[in-house]
Order: sequence, then C-alpha cells, then structure tokens
Amino acid sequence: MSHRLQREARIALQHHLQRESVFESFAPGRVNLIGEHTDYNEGFVLPCALELGTAVAMAPRTDRRIVAISASHGQVHRDDFSLDESPTPLPRGAWGNYLRGMVAAARNADEVLSGMDIAIVGNVPQGAGLSSSASLSVALGKLLQRAAGNAALPSPSSLQHVARWAQWTEHHYAGCLCGIMDQMAAAVAAPAEALLLDCRDLSIERIALPADWCVLIIDSGTRRELVAGEYNQRRRQCETAARHYGVPMLRDLQPSQLSKHRGALDEICFRRARHVVTENERVLRAAAALKAADLRAFGAALQDSHESLRLDFEVTVPAVDALAAEVNTLISRHADGRGGARMTGGGFGGCVIAVLERAAADPILTGLRQTVGQLQIFTVGLH
Ligand code: ADP
Ligand code: MG
Repeated sequence: MSHRLQREARIALQHHLQRESVFESFAPGRVNLIGEHTDYNEGFVLPCALELGTAVAMAPRTDRRIVAISASHGQVHRDDFSLDESPTPLPRGAWGNYLRGMVAAARNADEVLSGMDIAIVGNVPQGAGLSSSASLSVALGKLLQRAAGNAALPSPSSLQHVARWAQWTEHHYAGCLCGIMDQMAAAVAAPAEALLLDCRDLSIERIALPADWCVLIIDSGTRRELVAGEYNQRRRQCETAARHYGVPMLRDLQPSQLSKHRGALDEICFRRARHVVTENERVLRAAAALKAADLRAFGAALQDSHESLRLDFEVTVPAVDALAAEVNTLISRHADGRGGARMTGGGFGGCVIAVLERAAADPILTGLRQTVGQLQIFTVGLH
C-alpha cells in the first residue's frame, strides 16, 4: 500500500505541478485497539498501523515558496506560501494548517528548508477517528527532515521528533489539544503489530498480532461537529481531577486512591478520572492478553473500555453504542465470545473496532451487513 500511494504521489506531482519527484515519504493511519483518552494523561495506549495512509512527493524549487497540492478523494486542494515569514495559520479546518504547522515546527527545530513543490495523496478516511491528520503531518515531517538534509532512513529519535512536531502542529495550527498517540503511531508503527506506547517517556514495545487474529474497523458513518471543543473540555476535566488528587497527571493516580480521596471533587471530574485510571489498567491487561494470544481476555478488555467511555467519559453516541453492541452480539454468536468490539478514536461518532479470529470474520461481516446494512469496513490482518 505504501508503495502504491507513493507512486500515486509521484504521478500527482507530475500531473498537477509538472514536476518530477525527487523523493517521497509515507505514514500510515492508525486504529487504536485500546487506551482511549489516556495519552494526554501520560498513560498507556495500544494502537496499530493501518494499511491506509498518506504519501507525499517533493521536488525542490529555486525560489523560497512552498507550493503544495493535495489530491484526495477526487478533489484537488492547493496551498502556497513563502518561507520568508513564519507560516501564518489559516482559518480553522483548512487542510493547509497541517502543512504550515509542520513547516513552522521543522524551522523551530532549526531545520533549514528551501522552497519545494509537494504533492499529497491519502486514503485514510478523514474525521473518522483513524487519524488522517497525524498520517498527513507525519508523512510531511519525514519529507521535511529529508529535504533539510537528514538521512533517508530516519532514526528512532528523529521519528520521535517528527511525532512531536506533528503534535505541536495539532495544538498550534489545527486547534486540537491532542496527546501524542496518533503521531507516534503514524511515525513508528509497522504493519501486523500493535504498539504498546507509554505516553510519558514515549518508550514502545512492539507486540505481534497473532496470525489468526484480525481487526475489523466499521465506520458508523456518524460524525459530530465541534468535536475539538468537547475534546479540549475533557482534557481540562482531567487536569482538574489531577490537581484535586495532587498528582502531576492522572497516570500517577492509583486505583485505590480514586474513591478514598474523592473529597469534594465533582461528579463529572470524578468519572473522567475513573475512566482514565481504569483504562490504563485495561491497556496493560489487553497487552498481556495479546502476548498470551488470549482473545477472550482481550475482547473482554475492549468491551469494558467501551462501557467506561460510554458511562464515565461520555464520548460515545447512540449510533456507535448500538453498532458496538451489535458486533459484540455477533461475536458471541459466531465466535463463542472470542473477541470483542468497542468505539475507537476520540469519540462523538466515528468507528467501532472489533478484534476476533480470522475464521469468524466472514459470518460476522455477513451478519453485520444483514442487520445494519452497507457500512464502510476496513480490515487489518485479513488479507
Ligand atoms: P482524523 O485525524 O481523525 O481523520 P481530523 O479532524 O483530526 O480527523 O483530521 C482531518 C483533517 O486532516 C481533514 O479535515 C484535513 O484537513 C486533513 N487531512 C487529512 N488527510 C488529508 C489529505 N490527504 N489531504 C489534505 N488534508 C488532509
Ligand atoms: Mg486527527
């Protein structure tokens, strides 16, 4: 997939900007198996890379302009700015903010950039919780590092830098106060593995997905506007709870302390904290189950995560709750409960993820199409 998309990016550069590509880069989208809203609390997450992603191709220019086109989903968008000033952010929602942010971040890190033509091609569905934005930003970051004269094969530390630039871009140019999971996953996750990431020190453990497991990602088709506001509010509630408990981050709060020291903490912030603390435990439980290839235990952790997101963190919507419940029913019927489903991504619509045996995928997909109709479904490990 990455090779095919890079080829498409080269062709897009020729077609739209009449330039021959000098080099390309790629970064995948990701799906989070478990560990939702834990990253900005410096906790644990377990994402894995998708086969879908974003590829970028570039040719140097002799002037000091960045000229970029994005040819995705049948449309072509353009951005164009000078390197003589710091790139100004565009209105909220403009795709060029990711490019401008990454250029600004690279320059803040003292990378020396010259003008270039860039073509972008991506096939991660946008706004579905599969992190098209991190895939775009990280692909651009790898390209900018190379354009600034760094090695063609980035080192682990340079990939961490790119992930940090991409997170900075989300904060300062896209208006989303996200954690580091999506960017680290896009920067370092490889196919057919899950990445146990400690969002405090960015240490990673790569855990292979058992060959007979697969991941289904089922798009509910629902999206809610103004999600950034809800997201940022959840972050503030977590910070309030951490201050109340006197810990630097909710990562540091022991489960036994939650109720004991609740004191005057309001109901909402208490439930937000309870989600984060129990979700961190669930990630570690799921990682152990993955290593033991115990699909029943892994599935149970996914289902518990969904309930916590629904009741304590309140980021699910009825359509996603119903879809997750439907998939869990199908898993009990067709796979004897080996596996599980939950919402994935930040919430407020988007996708449901299911992890199950490959052998059970067909009857479950058939059952899903019969009960909920035609949904867009992505898979990992099925082909
Ligand atoms: P998610 O990251 O979950 O897909 P976001 O709202 O964070 O959702 O990011 C989606 C935004 O990222 C799009 O609205 C667009 O601005 C930008 N984006 C992602 N992929 C591309 C692409 N291939 N070309 C241009 N912009 C893209
Ligand atoms: Mg995003």
